[in-house]
This record gives sequence, C-alpha cells and structure tokens, in this order.
Amino acid sequence: MRRFAKPWKIVKNIIKSFPLLLSVNSFPEVLFLEHKVCEENSADTARGPFCLGERVRRDFPVFADPKLVYLDSAASAQKPDAVLRTMDEFYRTSYANIHRGVYPLSVQATQSYDDARRVVAQFLGASAPEEIVFTRSATEAANLAAHSWGRKFVGEGDEILVTLLEHHSNFVPWQMLAQEKRAGLKVVGLRDDLTLDVDDFVRKLSARTKLFCVTHLANALGWGPPVAELIELAHAQGAKVLIDGAQSVAHAPVNVRSFDADFFIFSGHKLYGPTGIGALYARREILEEMPPFMGGGDMIRSVSIKGTMYADVPQRFEAGTPHISGAIGLAAAIEYVSALGMENIAAHEEKLVRLLERRLAKIPQVKPLGPEGAHRGLVCFTFDNVHPHDLAQFLSDKFNVAVRAGHHCNQPLLEHLRIPATTRASLGVYNTADDIEVLGEALEAAARFFKF
Ligand SMILES: *Cc1c(COP(=O)(O)O)cnc(C)c1O
Repeated sequence: MRRFAKPWKIVKNIIKSFPLLLSVNSFPEVLFLEHKVCEENSADTARGPFCLGERVRRDFPVFADPKLVYLDSAASAQKPDAVLRTMDEFYRTSYANIHRGVYPLSVQATQSYDDARRVVAQFLGASAPEEIVFTRSATEAANLAAHSWGRKFVGEGDEILVTLLEHHSNFVPWQMLAQEKRAGLKVVGLRDDLTLDVDDFVRKLSARTKLFCVTHLANALGWGPPVAELIELAHAQGAKVLIDGAQSVAHAPVNVRSFDADFFIFSGHKLYGPTGIGALYARREILEEMPPFMGGGDMIRSVSIKGTMYADVPQRFEAGTPHISGAIGLAAAIEYVSALGMENIAAHEEKLVRLLERRLAKIPQVKPLGPEGAHRGLVCFTFDNVHPHDLAQFLSDKFNVAVRAGHHCNQPLLEHLRIPATTRASLGVYNTADDIEVLGEALEAAARFFKF
C-alpha cells in the first residue's frame, strides 16, 4: 500500500544521483546539492518538499524494513550508520580507558572523549568545552544540578518554580529537593489554550525564587514557552534558570547563550545518538561553585586519609569511568545532524508537522491537543471512545505504525487536563509524507474497527 516505485520517483532518483556522479566529495555539500534538487523538484509533486526524509532513510539501518512507520522519535530516535560505525570502530580499533594511560590507545581514547565534549559545547553554543558535563541522560543532568547546585544554594523558605509542562525528569528531582530542604515548590499553570501562563509565572516569581526549571519544548504538547523572555524575568529577580532541552535539541538549532540559560540539559538518544549519554551545560562560574555529586576515581586531584582535593570542572562531576563510547557516539550524531543542517531539519519537520495536523483534522474521531499551526515535532491526540493503548496496539498490529500511548511522563499536565492518556505521533528527520499518510489511513481504519 506504500512506497511503490512511482515513475516520478525513479526520475527523481536519477536526478538525485547527479551530484554524486559529479564526484563532489564533501559530505555536507553533497547533501546540500541533493536537497536543492529535491526542492527544485517540489513543483512536480506534492511530496517534493519532503525529500530530506526520503534521502536520509538510507542512513538508518532500521528502515531496511520499508513498512516500518516510526512515529515515536520523541521517546527515542533511531540511529544512523554514522553513529553505529563510529562506536563500533572505537571499540574495535581505538579502545582503552581514558585519562590515566600513557600508551597510544589510551591517549587516543582520551583525545576522542575530549573532542566529543568540544563537539557538544559547539553544538549548544557554550563558551567553552569545560561548561559541558557528560551524564547518563537529561534525567541525570537534572539530578546532578539538584544534588550539587540545589543542595548548596536552596534552603528553607526558598522557592523553586517549575511548570505544568515539565517532564517528570524536570519535576521530581525538584520536588525531592524542595522536600529535603523545606523549600517551596511552585508550579506555573497554563492558559486555556494550554500555553504557559506568563502572568502566573510573574505572580509566582519573587526574590525567594532560587531556581526556575522549564522545558524548551513540551514532550506532551509539542510546543514550548518563550524561554528568552522568561529567563530575563527570572534573572531580574536573581533566580537561576534551567532549560530542559531533551526535546528541543533534535528539532531546531539551539544556542544556550542566545537566551542566556544558566543550565541546559539533554539526552543523546533523542538526538540520534546512543542511550546512556547526555549532558548538563552550565555557565562556568556556576559549575565552579558546585560541589561534587558523586565521589570516586577521575573526579579528584589528590586523595589522602585526611581529605580529598577535587578536580577542576567538569571532571569533578564525572566520577568513575565515563560512557566513553557513548560520548563519542553522541559527537558522531551531532556531526551527522550538523552536516544535514539543523535549519534544514527544522524546515523539513515544519512541513511534516503541518501535514500531520491537516491529516489528523480530516479524521472526526481524532481530537488533537492544541490548534493547527501550534505544533513542533509532535502532535498528541485523543480518539473518541478508544483508549490510547488500544489505539496504539491497533496501529502497530495492523499497520506497522509505531506511536506512543500513555501519560508521556507528564502526569501533572494530564491530571490538569482530566484525561488519563493521549496518543502521540512524533517526528524525526527520517519521516516522510508517506508516513503521515499511512498514519492517516490507519486511524481511519481504526475508526471503522472500533465503531460501536
Ligand atoms: C525524554 C525527556 C526527558 C528525559 O530524558 P531521559 O533521556 O529519559 O533522561 C526530559 N525532558 C523531556 C522534555 C523529555 O522529552
């Protein structure tokens, strides 16, 4: 029912191979040319503008199954060959533990790990690689900030502000800290249209506010608050701000200095990188004031029975052998998306999400959260009289469509909306107009199947 070799596609593929025949050997340039050919072709066919997705599918081994319709990148993105090959090669040819070795393998592994930190720093627009601490995930990054910075700087009577949009990862660590320190935890609410209530934020922000934790792109709604404006307001009250970039980094260019974030957290696995690696960005002067989170090897300068001198940042926060191959894999993922161009990815996904909104609007049983035009990267919806779990199961069993059903780690929001769960279709760079059409047809089939 999908991906027939339509004549226009064959012609397009021949045209697309021209830049390669001309032996343009710089990777980004080839992509640029191919992308351009696609764009120029867009007048020929309604699907032309979506060719970035079709082009990059070949880079992801999982799409060897042509029937797979993967619409769950907000939970985790698939991995391109470039990432898999880089990690495999590292283990096969250049593997050793870092920092302590004097022999070539260890020196090389240390170099690669340090390079990975530089790549992450540049990707986020940090001032220096030392502002990047490798963690297991966005979750661990939030916990590091809470345990280290939070325990030192948040005390009794202080307040932490979060929002109703937060993923549990950027909610529970702050709730735990507030309980431990007898600090207040205030939750900024939403307006009727489910955007963040900035007036409520201003009301709840005060000189007692030590930290404001807010998502850059809400994983259970598909839009985000105006972080630059919020950060300015928070800073005026002397509060620090932590931005949860777990969703946003994969969808558009990010520059932490452009909005002056104090902390920024993300995970590698939603950015086409491996699991088990993420990062905490913090401004250097903030990191330097933070005590260690975990003790162990690699985070010390010297240890004696009397006491321990801690290493400088960021090593102070990376106790023990880190996820070396994970950091290297994450850097490969960042190099992969950077070669495609984050602006190109954003433009591609913008077209796709508009198409997704329009396709969903044609199905009367589907009730999206949020109006057409509001979404980035994903749409959550309910389906008349069918529980999201049953719907997701049907879509998977009958149509090979992978979507997520549940509370998306955002129970406070769903409690507020008085719905137990939603179905979420989320996009990645490899998605195509075909994927959206299959989802649409599958949902129409579900409407017939569950009719009663
Ligand atoms: C996925 C996600 C997280 C948590 O990421 P982990 O990789 O599970 O640590 C945090 N915030 C948002 C917005 C997310 O989407």
